[in-house]
Amino acid sequence: MSLKQAKFYESVQANFKKAADLSGLPKGLLSQIEVCNSIYKMHFPVKIGNKFEVIEAYRVQHSHHRQPTKGGIRFSQHVNQEEVMALASLMTYKCAIVNVPFGGAKGGVKVSTRQYNAEQLEKITRRYTVELVRKGFIGPGVDVPAPDYGTGSREMAWILDTYTQLNNGELDAAACVTGKPVAQNGIAGRTEATGRGVYYATRELLLDKKMMDTVGLETGTEGKTVVIQGLGNVGTYTGLICSEEGGMKVIGISEIDGTIYDPKGIDVQKLLKYKKSKNTIIGFPGTKALKNREDWIGIECDVLIPAALESQIRKDNVNKIKAKVIVEAANGPITAEAENVLLKKGCIILPDMYANAGGVTVSYFEWLKNLSHIRFGRMEKRFDQQAMTQLVSKIESMTGKTISAREKLQLTKGADEVDLVRSGLEETMITAHEEIFTVYNRRKNVKDLRTAAFLVALEKVANDYEMMGIFP
Ligand code: GLU
Repeated sequence: MSLKQAKFYESVQANFKKAADLSGLPKGLLSQIEVCNSIYKMHFPVKIGNKFEVIEAYRVQHSHHRQPTKGGIRFSQHVNQEEVMALASLMTYKCAIVNVPFGGAKGGVKVSTRQYNAEQLEKITRRYTVELVRKGFIGPGVDVPAPDYGTGSREMAWILDTYTQLNNGELDAAACVTGKPVAQNGIAGRTEATGRGVYYATRELLLDKKMMDTVGLETGTEGKTVVIQGLGNVGTYTGLICSEEGGMKVIGISEIDGTIYDPKGIDVQKLLKYKKSKNTIIGFPGTKALKNREDWIGIECDVLIPAALESQIRKDNVNKIKAKVIVEAANGPITAEAENVLLKKGCIILPDMYANAGGVTVSYFEWLKNLSHIRFGRMEKRFDQQAMTQLVSKIESMTGKTISAREKLQLTKGADEVDLVRSGLEETMITAHEEIFTVYNRRKNVKDLRTAAFLVALEKVANDYEMMGIFP
């Protein structure tokens, strides 16, 4: 295990302790909340070409205070037990913060996705699912995986299919995994959900005058400069939505092949097309490639958004940061040591367990959709549309004025599934923002947003345990 990975779990523990010490909760209860309840490490064979390969994989269920447990599956050559434990722990707090009724879990398969073709990845995914089924580590009411780094809707469809084959006739089988393709029991708006959630979280923070005063920024998103590390699913949608809906200016983007910079702002939509055709972001017209890939960290900007992997901002590079606000779109991108340095400098850090909770929030909507066996909006869309059309016509006839067809459509359109998902996600992120900031503003001894977020989560998890009567 590399030093970076070992530090990740240590950082989660250090952050937990900081909040736990202020929580006033009983020690035994805190210990129960902190530990990972079930750790399943497996090795299984997969035939690749004419050779057998032994694959190492994990599923960690951090907390059973609510069930099912929930969390993504990561495919990466760096996967290790401590990393999955750290990620599973974060899922528990994340779910509690956004009021999603799940315990936390995470899965990891130690493979480099670049070394296998689609057929081989399918074999690996299906075999991993069989292992989970055999040990009772997957099921609509038990443990529900989702995409994470290195996986997407394609892998989730394979998982669903394997699970269904092994559980013939199970009515709720579709709810055994989320992040599925829309045509295969998925939900509209899930792919963009984490990035959209990052945008809502960022917007709410930037609208807070008191917070903005502390870093000398005007309120609002319009024109704020942003640098994003990582153009995977999360970074891509964060960039698109921050610029298209928030009017923010993405001035720097970092990827595996390097970092590009343009103080006038990068058109993320065009960059994606360029990347698809050229297989790199380097050379995108109007941008300058920085000397080292790592240089994203030192770009002067208002908001820095690490959207790749853990432990990217560490003691050895933290002093290069010039951003005033850091939004953790990735899980654990700042080590606990680096965070102390940033907080001393007055930097605002919006923590992962809130900032990137949009993914699991929409996963929850997908799970609900699967259990109810009906698409959101199916019953009411036309009814709402007709009622609004009648209302608009009445107003027109009463006032003697008419509005344009376009305006009429906007006012009368019944909500589609994607509209409801976005509305539910926005509501969730605003409510969680209020809960975290209530703790942050009211409790004098709480000096940073991560500790405030942790305290919100701990309170809810502890409450569930107390309700179960385990800790009188
Ligand atoms: N992998 C995502 C996360 O880290 C999503 C988890 C889920 O939807 O269950 O939050």
